[in-house]
Amino acid sequence: MTQNPIPFLDLKAQQARIAEPLRRRLDTVLAHCQFIMGPEVAELEAKLAAFCGAKHCIGVSNGTDALQIAMMAENIGPGDAVFLPAFTYTATAEVPLVLGATPVFVDVDPRTFQIDPDHLAARIAGVRAGGKLTPRMLIGVDLFGQPADWPALAAIAAREGLATLDDCAQSFGASLHGRRLGTAADTTSVSFFPSKPLGGYGDGGALFTESDDRAALFRSLRSHGEGTTRYEVHRTGMNGRLDTLQAAVLLCKLEVFEEELRTRERIARKYDQRLGNAVTIPARVADSDSAWAIYAILLPDGTARTRMQDGLKAAGVPSAIYYPKSLHQQPAYAQAHDGTALPVSEDLATRIMALPIHPDLTEADVDRICSAVLANV
Ligand SMILES: *Cc1c(COP(=O)(O)O)cnc(C)c1O
Repeated sequence: MTQNPIPFLDLKAQQARIAEPLRRRLDTVLAHCQFIMGPEVAELEAKLAAFCGAKHCIGVSNGTDALQIAMMAENIGPGDAVFLPAFTYTATAEVPLVLGATPVFVDVDPRTFQIDPDHLAARIAGVRAGGKLTPRMLIGVDLFGQPADWPALAAIAAREGLATLDDCAQSFGASLHGRRLGTAADTTSVSFFPSKPLGGYGDGGALFTESDDRAALFRSLRSHGEGTTRYEVHRTGMNGRLDTLQAAVLLCKLEVFEEELRTRERIARKYDQRLGNAVTIPARVADSDSAWAIYAILLPDGTARTRMQDGLKAAGVPSAIYYPKSLHQQPAYAQAHDGTALPVSEDLATRIMALPIHPDLTEADVDRICSAVLANV
């Protein structure tokens, strides 16, 4: 018997749940026509700041531009070392390179997949001993919905005089020690790419900070470096604004976001229970709540992974690989890498596999996914 394939992400089902308020929000924008920096942008910024307990939120064009604005505000450039995990999405390493800085790849924890603080300390010491680059910034990534070990990372950064940037693109809504992410680093950046836990209907992003000075810089940089008036240019900036229609969509999705986070957690627990004896399930970061952007399991090796993916596909169950290569193995970034061994990141790339996790999966879908995994181990 063939069954309908289960979607990896179901934006149509989610849209049906919020259809009426969404239509009202969009109609309001179509009526006022302030498509750039309309009132929905400021409303969203205030609500997002309240949601995570941050002092400032600045809406921007996407999660990659958010990283870039945060780094431009710290004057990151040639000769600067920017420390970041090797096992993350492309954008985290791309932006330091665009600005002429050098990404320094740090290995990750084999159980939680988050950046390893001990290896970070070793990498900073190595760069200092090398004498060629100046350690300037740490980008900690909250991978797959879980928080990185921010207390440990912030302590190292403070000791070493590094600015901290939390690349929270995948994990807005997660919390650590009872506090939502958004205030763990000097600056937190978020993405609203459609497949992120809080996703728009196009590109979007945001920056969070407790610092009034940084917030003012971010606002200037996202709008061509403007000063107190639009036609006074104080610094080289960029066109990095969040547009009003995306803000309207996100305001609507924010209303159901907490409920969706609870549903994602329920699904993760069910996966843990049913699959925990058969495959390596993701270890939880202590005293945290995940936003469950991605539920990733580990298989014994690459052959087992290919076999599993083929078996799942035949059963109409999608899977995905985040990430098939560690960033230091990417052709574009390999040149920037100093050759330091990153064994955990390399190993994860060969064995990791993500199962669907989204708020519109039914109990029956989750049962079907679990049965298909168990039939293919
Ligand atoms: C998605 C993502 C980004 C980039 O966000 P965009 O909005 O797609 O530009 C940056 N970092 C990480 C870790 C991401 O997952």
